[in-house]
This record gives sequence, structure tokens and C-alpha cells, in this order.
Amino acid sequence: MISEQIRVRFAPSPTGYLHVGGLRTALYNYLFARQNNGVFILRIEDTDRSRYVEGAVENLIETLKWAGLDYDEGPGKGGEYGPYVQSQRLDIYRKYAKQLVEEKKAYYCFCTPERLEQMRQELEQKGEFAKYDRFCLNLSSSEIEQKLKSNTPYVIRMKVPDNTTIKFYDLIRKDVEISSQLIDDQVLIKSDGYPTYHLANVVDDHLMKVTHVIRGEEWLPSVPKHILLYSYFGWEIPALAHLPLLLNTDKTKLSKRQGDVAVEDYRAKGYLKEGLINFIALLGWNPGDEREIFTLEELIQEFSIERVGKSGAVFNIDKLNWINLQHIHKKTEKEMLPILKEIISRSKYKDQLFSDKYLEKVIHAMRERINYLAGILEKSPYFFEPPSSYDPNYLSKHWKSETPIWLDKLVEAFSKLENPVKNDFESALNQTAEALGVGRGKIIHAVRLAVSGVGEGPGLYDILDILGKEEVINRIQQAIKNIKIQYARE
Ligand code: GLU
Repeated sequence: MISEQIRVRFAPSPTGYLHVGGLRTALYNYLFARQNNGVFILRIEDTDRSRYVEGAVENLIETLKWAGLDYDEGPGKGGEYGPYVQSQRLDIYRKYAKQLVEEKKAYYCFCTPERLEQMRQELEQKGEFAKYDRFCLNLSSSEIEQKLKSNTPYVIRMKVPDNTTIKFYDLIRKDVEISSQLIDDQVLIKSDGYPTYHLANVVDDHLMKVTHVIRGEEWLPSVPKHILLYSYFGWEIPALAHLPLLLNTDKTKLSKRQGDVAVEDYRAKGYLKEGLINFIALLGWNPGDEREIFTLEELIQEFSIERVGKSGAVFNIDKLNWINLQHIHKKTEKEMLPILKEIISRSKYKDQLFSDKYLEKVIHAMRERINYLAGILEKSPYFFEPPSSYDPNYLSKHWKSETPIWLDKLVEAFSKLENPVKNDFESALNQTAEALGVGRGKIIHAVRLAVSGVGEGPGLYDILDILGKEEVINRIQQAIKNIKIQYARE
């Protein structure tokens, strides 16, 4: 027997950016598809016109591509079951909704928003579950016909059976059941003619032959409605897996207020896609042992839905930083160069020219001191511009009244060097210290402050080597002047 081909989908609504939770859903679907030689579909669920955002689809596709999660069927790729954008499938949903109306499993509802709102308020005041009172279920066929003829706005509602228990099995949540009394007669077609998520989702999962629905837990409450729809249509229900919520470190639902939630933000900071994907993979899934560092290929081998937990997964930025650093370790400077260049092109240094060789040296000096590549600009802006101020604490400790005299001597020594590299700066500094009869540590600290403005960073001679003789001399001379002024002000 040939077993059925596994088909999964990532079905985002294009609301502006890809949320990290969305990336996890996409990733788990992708991993599951790849390890089963299945098909990974991208379907755009854009039936909520009020939430439509220009450019969101392109942005989403671009972000998935960046993350390396290529889909097999979807917008721009095609496939046998397209179109893969729901707003291009309206006729299909209307046809199925009509079918349900004819079979008396759905009905027209002409209630005005005002009436519905009043009804909702009354029920809420009574402390009752706010669901539609089925006023329109009792309309006669001639009343319905007349309203349709006179173009009265309407929606189509699903008729939910009374007093039934709806049961289903979720691969992660296991057996779930809910009373139909808690389910509203869900709108299937809205008054603008667009389907709701529920109808479009079920119809598409069926028509696109989706075998496994893997998505966030927030969709679990929708499942009973979907189960009813599948049974009304007489369709097979795909396997379901609802992924645990993502939480802030204080265990509240992951929110923008406590940090970045858009994948683009992490990309813009220069997190490696390998690091972000690795971290995201562990939000809900674990390999069952101590391992924490995985490549995408390894994740394809190792991932299993059985090892996805039920409880919320904490989005811990420190962990992301640590994992990302492990992936930085695996990269060459050359591989990281385009990322740094991209970051520079969006920074205030965008109009300055830095050679690839220069930037590679900067990456080399900083790679162990950062967690993401924008950290280079944050922690060592002095590789891109001379310091505009000098750390006052370090200054008061390491800048003495004699310092300018020592540094003048050092500048003299540096000026004589021809195309100096790291060691040349070092021996010139040693010789100057000796000639002056001062400990070289004193000069080292002062030079560091003069060229970088701060007291920490890579080895001083690495910094000098990267900046080059001319820049180093300029900065030392500038510091002598500036610090006099800064001191005078203090
Ligand atoms: N369109 C839904 C979303 O925005 C998809 C839910 C599902 O996968 O069924 O996340």
C-alpha cells in the first residue's frame, strides 16, 4: 500500500510582519514536511480586509526565504491546488457556503450590527454566554427571498447543533471535548462577501489535501467549529497539533511591550538565521537529551511532534543570545561580512566607505564580544567614527597631567613607522615607555581611551592595527585637545 503523502501548510494572515510565533509554526511545519518527504504549503489567509496591510505578503515571503524555510506550493511557486491566496478564492467559499444553506446546515442572517450589539449587551448583563439568538433561523423562505431581492445586507451563519459534545484528538493536547452549547452560530460568509477564517480554513485544508494542521494554541478554541464543518461537508478531518503558547520571562503571553516579536527585528539586529531558527526550534520542542545546538538539517532529522510539550514556552532572550553566539563561532568573517554591511547600510555610517578587509578585521576583533552583529556598532562605534566623548571614570583613573607629554612622544614614535602592523605598534609603544621611564600600562590605558573613548574592547594593538597609523595618530592628537576641554568643563 502506498501511504498518503504528508501535506502541511503555514497559513499566516498578512498583518504586517512575521511574528516569532509564526516563524515557529512555519518551522515546525517545514521540519515535519521535510523529514517525511512531504509537501510544505504557504497559504495566505487574507480574508479580513480590515486588517489588510500593503506589502505584508511580500515581506512575509521574504522573511521565510531569509530563514531558509522554502515552501513547495504557494504564492509565486504555484502548485496543483492554487491559488494559494484566499482573497483569490472567494467563489469557492461562496459555493460551499451556499451548499450548506441548501442542506439547512447554515442560514442567512439579516440582523443589523445594532441589533446584534444590543443582544450581546443584554446577554452579558444577564451573565450569559453571548451567542446569536437565532432570530433569522426562523425566517420563512419567502421572507428570505424578499430580503435577498431587496439587497438587504446579510451574513451566512453555520447552524450549530444543540446539546452535543464535540470531541476531537490533538497530537499535543490529546483528547479534547467541548459542549456545542458553548459554540456560537459562527458567521461563515461576512456581509462584505468574504468568508470568515473558519470557513476558508476548513475548505482550503480540505481542497489542498492538508493531512496535518500544525499551528499555535490560540486556534484551539476554533477547532470545534471546524470539526462541525468537516462533518457537515462529509470530509475527513486532518490530524491536529496545537503548539504551546510563547511566554515572556514573567510567564505572561509574549508581547511586544517586553521585547521584539517581529522576526524582521531580529534579522535587522544581525542575529544569524541559524541562531534564530535553532532557538525557535526549542520553544516547545526538545530533543530529549542535553543537546541544544542544532543546524536546520539536524532539526529535520531530530524533530518530532511527540516531543512538543503542552506547557507554554518562555522566550528567553539570554538563551537566544547564547545560542546565536554558538552559531557565530561556526562562521567565518567572510560569511558574516554581508550581514554587517547590511547593518551599516541602515546606520548613520551608511555614507562612509569601509573596505571588506577592514570590516572583516573588525568582525574578527569583536566576534567573541557580541551576541548579534549589530552589537559591533553598539559596542565598538570607534571602528566607524572617532570617539566624541571619553568615559569619565576611565579618564579620571588613567589620564594624568603627564599623559599628554607621554602621548606626544608616542605619536612621534608612531609617525616613524612605515605601514605598521600590530607588533610594530607594540614595540614602538614599549620603547617609548622605556625611554620615558614610565610603566607601559599607563600609556596603554591612555591610548585606549584616546582612540576608542572607552575602557574595554579587544586588545589595544588589535584596535591600532585595524584603525591604521594615520587614524591612530589623529585620534591621539585629537584626544589631547579634547580631553583638556572636557577636563576644563568638569
Ligand atoms: N490565518 C491564521 C493565522 O493567522 C492561521 C491559523 C491556522 O493555521 O489555521 O495564524
